[in-house]
Amino acid sequence: MDLIDDDQAERLSRVAAQLVARVRAEDPTANGRWLAAELTDHADWFRLAFVLAAAVPADRTWRELTAWTVAPLGPPAPLPVPVPPCGYRGRSDAGARDHRLRGEPICAFCGEAERAYNRARKATYRTRKRQNRTAA
Ligand SMILES: [Zn+2]
Repeated sequence: MDLIDDDQAERLSRVAAQLVARVRAEDPTANGRWLAAELTDHADWFRLAFVLAAAVPADRTWRELTAWTVAPLGPPAPLPVPVPPCGYRGRSDAGARDHRLRGEPICAFCGEAERAYNRARKATYRTRKRQNRTAA
C-alpha cells in the first residue's frame, strides 16, 4: 500500500468516523452511494479499510463489537463493486497489464491492485521456500 500523507489520513479518518455513524443510522444502499460519492478515487476504498481496521479494538470479539445490531436484518444489500476510474472490469491484478498493453499510464486503482497481487505472490513464494527448506 502506498503511504498516505497526513492530509489524506485526516480526510480518510473523517470519512471513517462518518461511516461509523451512518452504518448505525442509514440503510446500506444509501451508505454505498454516499461512500462512492465521498471517495471517488477507488484506491481510497482500499486505504479506508486500513484506517477502519486500525480503530477496531483487537481485544473484543466480533460478536461483542457488533452487539448493537440486535434486530435480525434481512439479507445484506450487495455492496457496490468498485469500478476503477479507468473503467477496467476484469481480474483486479490484470488491469495494470492492460494499461501497459494499451501504452497508457497505469491508474492508481490498477497500480495498487497489481502491487497487492505481487505482494501476495511473493509472500506465498517465501512461505513455500521456507517450508521446503525445513522439510529437506
Ligand atoms: Zn486502471
